[in-house]
Amino acid sequence: MVAFIHSFGHKLLFKLLTCYSNQTPIMAQKQLGLNTICTHVGEIKDTQFKGAVSPIYTSTSYEFLDVDIKRYPRYFNTPNQEHLCEKIAALEHAESAIIFSSGMAAISTMFLAFLKIGDHVLVQNTLYGGTVNFIKEELPKYGIEYTFTNGYSVDDFEKDIKPNTKFILIETPSNPLMTVTDIAAVAKLGKSRGILTAIDNTFASPINQNPIDFGIDMVMHSATKYLGGHSDISAGAVAATKHIIDKIWHTGINLGGNLSDMTVWLLERSMKTLALRVKAQTANAMEMAQWLLAHPKVKNIYYPGLESHQEHQLAKQQMNGFGAMLSFELEDGIDALVFQKQLKLIKSSMSLAGVESTVISPFLTSHALLTAEERLNVGISDQLIRFSVGIEECVDLQNDIDQAIENTIKLK
Ligand SMILES: *Cc1c(COP(=O)(O)O)cnc(C)c1O
Repeated sequence: MVAFIHSFGHKLLFKLLTCYSNQTPIMAQKQLGLNTICTHVGEIKDTQFKGAVSPIYTSTSYEFLDVDIKRYPRYFNTPNQEHLCEKIAALEHAESAIIFSSGMAAISTMFLAFLKIGDHVLVQNTLYGGTVNFIKEELPKYGIEYTFTNGYSVDDFEKDIKPNTKFILIETPSNPLMTVTDIAAVAKLGKSRGILTAIDNTFASPINQNPIDFGIDMVMHSATKYLGGHSDISAGAVAATKHIIDKIWHTGINLGGNLSDMTVWLLERSMKTLALRVKAQTANAMEMAQWLLAHPKVKNIYYPGLESHQEHQLAKQQMNGFGAMLSFELEDGIDALVFQKQLKLIKSSMSLAGVESTVISPFLTSHALLTAEERLNVGISDQLIRFSVGIEECVDLQNDIDQAIENTIKLK
């Protein structure tokens, strides 16, 4: 089939583009409530057996002659892929969406869809580590220039715009200090200079933040995190206008980062409880942040929901909830690594956003490549612990942290 496509070239591609654009309009469904969207939007009706859930279509080979839509997994247009995109688009208040096999597949495809040799991208200095590596290691190979901002205020972005800047990427709240960037201000800056803007919305999830409402062009997710939510799915997503998604889709076909339909189906199942999970996790995070704030063995808490957070007011303006990620510093003399090993319920784990609570030391993971001095300059001490708050009862999490701190002190 692929060889066939090549021989037909542009004519077929045009047909594919048209059929991809035939997705059900999402706007009509925007007035549905959050949990209703999570549960129902994009579900595939089982007309044959009237089952309650979407069937899985695992075919990699579909009828070719006399059909409007030439379906193929890598064209991102199998039934399960197309339908799940409706749910994601609805949640992000977007016209359209596209899903990938990982967050990095979403990011790399998004970048390469819009950038070419000689272009410049301007990116926030506190991006996810994998994104930083992609930008530094891959973009120069394509002759694409990049600048990391010096800070995360809109002035920091404006300062570094060049005549050839084509793309701005922000991430808010950011990892691991939960800094908050002014989404509307960056979107406005981009619009005024004719620069596309994108946001990594992974930490907030669509439940706590909808950047398209603030004028951002593209919203990206590592669906491996909250959209999946059970630490068992690798996936990514981008939501935007149909015009933008069509461009990403075009490059996506060439790069091939599609998701298997089995996983798409699992992701659909996970997303039915997205709002329930994230709201419970967000409420827990607020309770845990307040508890940690009052804890005698904890010195600093970074959570946008706390009034003490630098950008608390901004977070209030642009977030529906403050999210379920936070970080805190243990008092000096309490070894952060020993502490993590003493935890019995909370897992020490590299990833985040599952229903189970996890912690990690950023100095060992996202910021491992920096020197100790560079880390201190960006506020990452060895005492800092990033906390992905799950759905457990807060009292159990608190007891676990207390016993781990006590044991760490005893072991000294
Ligand atoms: C995990 C993550 C990514 C990358 O996603 P993968 O699914 O691991 O490829 C990108 N951005 C953020 C904020 C993340 O947490």
